[in-house]
Amino acid sequence: MSALKGDIFDIKRFAIHDGPGIRTTIFFRGCPLLCWWCHNPEARVDCGRETYRKRSVDLTLPASDNVIGPEVRLETLIAEISRDSIFYDQSQGGVTVSGGEPLMQIDFLEGILLACRERGIGTAVDTSGYAPWEKFERIMELVDLFLVDLKLLDDSQHEKYTGVSNGMILENFDNLIKAGASVCARLPMIPGITDTEENIEALTSFLGRYEELELISLLPYNRLGEDKFDRLGLEYRPGRLKTQAQDEMRGIADRFEEAGLSVRIGG
Ligand code: SF4
Repeated sequence: MSALKGDIFDIKRFAIHDGPGIRTTIFFRGCPLLCWWCHNPEARVDCGRETYRKRSVDLTLPASDNVIGPEVRLETLIAEISRDSIFYDQSQGGVTVSGGEPLMQIDFLEGILLACRERGIGTAVDTSGYAPWEKFERIMELVDLFLVDLKLLDDSQHEKYTGVSNGMILENFDNLIKAGASVCARLPMIPGITDTEENIEALTSFLGRYEELELISLLPYNRLGEDKFDRLGLEYRPGRLKTQAQDEMRGIADRFEEAGLSVRIGG
């Protein structure tokens, strides 16, 4: 296997919210966005390296065989992933590459996807959509499902809350669907920011155009990010927010279903 190395800050085995079936989710470090509510701030490159989980200690592996860290070898990671092949087979699950933004480490990402394809392991890529289209083209044939996070349709709001324009994201989303990729749109519902009447209206009308869209996942606000920001000594700019009640999420889901879309509440 190639000598490729990647920067991984966490791995979650037996994940059930990052695509179909039982999955292993791999978290790549580095992201071009700076979302105010980021649920994985440890993916940021300005956070200290001590934010890596001490997986080498957990697994009593020599440092060169870490599956978490700045220089994880492809071979080691694939051996780790393959441990759960039986569960992927039984549940139609597989591997999800998340982050951070996985397309920032395109060579390593492609290496993982290729190795999974060779072993018959299903693949999903969870992306912010913020990457040059050529990178999506490069991996498209190797990805069974793209989980594309859409946040705010108003560009100035998007720029304010994530640090970047949404132009490239929406273009890539459109390109992926037109190219025949399986796409699930993931919509994080951040109270007063992305769950506003204006944004829900804009999202329903934008997504309602895509009959081919597999699914929409409405993600209720998760307070986990707040604690992580505190622990990392970073300012959590949205302030203390409350997770939406179930009936509130149901009301939002109804709006998307009325537009003819399949919706799931949760990952
Ligand atoms: S795109 Fe995801 S990982 Fe990147 S800053 Fe936003 S929430 Fe965090």
